[in-house]
Formats: sequence, C-alpha cells, structure tokens
Amino acid sequence: MQAICQVVEMKAWLDVAVLRCPNCGRHYIEASWYVLEMESDIECGECGKEFNTKKNATDRALLEFQINEDSKIQKVDIAKRLKLESRRKG
Ligand SMILES: [Zn+2]
Repeated sequence: MQAICQVVEMKAWLDVAVLRCPNCGRHYIEASWYVLEMESDIECGECGKEFNTKKNATDRALLEFQINEDSKIQKVDIAKRLKLESRRKG
C-alpha cells in the first residue's frame, strides 16, 4: 500500500506595478489594480511629493507566492512579466 505523501503546494498571485517617484527617484511597489484602474495619486515617503501612480509606473509583473498548509507565505517568484497597459476609459 502506498503511503499518502502528498505535497500540498498552494499558490497565490499578485499583480504588481513598480513606481518611481519623479522627484527623488525612489521606487515603490503597488498592486496593479490600484495603479492602472484607480490611477491613484500617492505621496512619496521619501520627499513628500505627491505623484500619479499610473503616470510614473515603470514596470509590471505577476508575483507567485507559495503558501503552506498554515496559509503562510513560503516563497515569492516572478511568475510572469506583464505589460503596463495604456488602455483608456471611455
Ligand atoms: Zn520622492
């Protein structure tokens, strides 16, 4: 009889965008929906300048998180590189 030795590998994904402060050059990571759908402004924690996240997005990727049985993050990888969408509403 075979022993039950099933490796439980659970995964979760997060679509993120990289932002660069136009004033001081500091980088940030935000969820892509927040950047591309909401087009929110954020305040730079470094220099205090407010800037638009979408206009200052430099990269986008899909992160893959490996989750264990306790629902804790084990490992993070870049699953896929994504394009910064420039689609317009309306
Ligand atoms: Zn800044």
